[in-house]
Amino acid sequence: CTPSSCPRVCIVGGGPAGFYTAQHLLKAHPAMQVDIYERLPIPFGLVRFGVAPDHPEVKNVINTFTQTAQHERCCFHGNVTVGKDVSVEELKQAYHAVVLSYGAEGNRLLGVPGENLSGVYSAKDFVGWYNGLPCNKDLCPDLSHETAVILGQGNVALDVARILLSPLDILTKTDITQPSLEALAASRVRRVLIVGRRGPLQVAFTIKELREMVNLAGTRPDMVPADFKGIAEVLKDLPRPRKRLTELMMKAVREAPSGEGSTSRQWGFRFLRSPVEVLPTPDLTQTAGIRLGINRLEGSGDGARAVATGETEDIECGMVISSIGYQSLPIDPAVPFDPHKAIIPNAVGRVLKTSGLYCSGWVKRGPTGVIATTMNDSFDTARVLIQDIETGILDISTAKPGSQTVTPLLQKRGVNPVSFSDWEKIDAEEMKRGSVVGKPREKLLDVTEMLKTVHS
Ligand code: FAD
Repeated sequence: CTPSSCPRVCIVGGGPAGFYTAQHLLKAHPAMQVDIYERLPIPFGLVRFGVAPDHPEVKNVINTFTQTAQHERCCFHGNVTVGKDVSVEELKQAYHAVVLSYGAEGNRLLGVPGENLSGVYSAKDFVGWYNGLPCNKDLCPDLSHETAVILGQGNVALDVARILLSPLDILTKTDITQPSLEALAASRVRRVLIVGRRGPLQVAFTIKELREMVNLAGTRPDMVPADFKGIAEVLKDLPRPRKRLTELMMKAVREAPSGEGSTSRQWGFRFLRSPVEVLPTPDLTQTAGIRLGINRLEGSGDGARAVATGETEDIECGMVISSIGYQSLPIDPAVPFDPHKAIIPNAVGRVLKTSGLYCSGWVKRGPTGVIATTMNDSFDTARVLIQDIETGILDISTAKPGSQTVTPLLQKRGVNPVSFSDWEKIDAEEMKRGSVVGKPREKLLDVTEMLKTVHS
């Protein structure tokens, strides 16, 4: 194609945002070349490393992403960390536009004493551990105590609670990693408390995830009926999804005692509680419990605020999992970053105060929302980018070399990118290992091993 009809765009991050942005760009422009640079030798981001192993249906989006990666004008370059192996400035030189879709790789801190004690984990690391994220493979969470406390009441918190309490025969049929399966088989965790700073009407999880908890074999809810006082009276005024969610919680409260004795594992919500301190064992090394500040609510509905009463309550537990949110991090000084909102400042995906830079997904709007939300905002970013080409805001009149200059640069720096067909070798190896043990796949946990598989 001629330089003016052949725009080259690269995308940083091979998760849902990266793939959906690529998909839309390829569809909307008949000549555009799209390269995706991904930190890991493995594509798909949180679809592989976040989505729970017992939710295989959610992972079907991988089929669409695979079609995109195999598109003749798309090229996947895995094992490339942008900001370290290649700078955003270098990418800007090589491409007409750079789309930042690198997600949220950090996590929000609790900011309380004891946070660094052994036995305190971020949900991000815990999820990464059971889902085979290479940097979390050695987490070895301490599952030797009866009670685990999860801080946060979103879907990730419920995923973690469910994995902690699921009967093994469910998990063995999933792509959960073998080491975590073995650790969970030996786990002594029998009681999981899911703590939120506000009330039952402010929980962030959705009904599907709650229903899974309610129906989880071998468990029973352990609720505090008083937490639901007065809720029945306001039910009729709630928006329908919130009403159904609340009704299901109340049903769980009502039915809680019926299973007593017949099941050994329990889960429950604790409301109006904020962490004040993780309490240490006498030798000050391990988690022995958590001190929670008791709150009251000011206002009502989604906007209600938790206000500390000054009273506290201690819960004995050997494990605290903080599930208060993922957080995007800056990856390159050349990219504007809003440290307060922890996002790249943008207007509908156009990075502010710079040209040729765009963003999509969690790094664009913050770490909330399901894959469908990420899809819509990625399509928006792609639309804006195409619009900028059409209106001339994005200058494509000069030819750009794309990966022709980036690949040699990476090789010079000792980085060996992994292509999509290389990933397919890893994929085949994982499925082969999985079939031996009756699982959909047995994930490789180590980047060196992944690269060895590619080059074998
Ligand atoms: P990510 O998926 O995080 O992708 C970002 C990619 O960028 C990653 O592959 C990362 O390796 C790469 N990257 C990071 N830094 C760099 C760099 N410097 N250079 C190159 N590449 C880089 N949604 C659902 O619809 N259903 C679910 O069941 C569900 N479960 C979830 C469970 C958990 C625990 C979590 C955390 C989220 C879940 N979601 C679920 C939400 C969904 O995963 C997100 O909406 C979606 O993954 C966000 O896409 P993203 O591309 O912005 O980020």
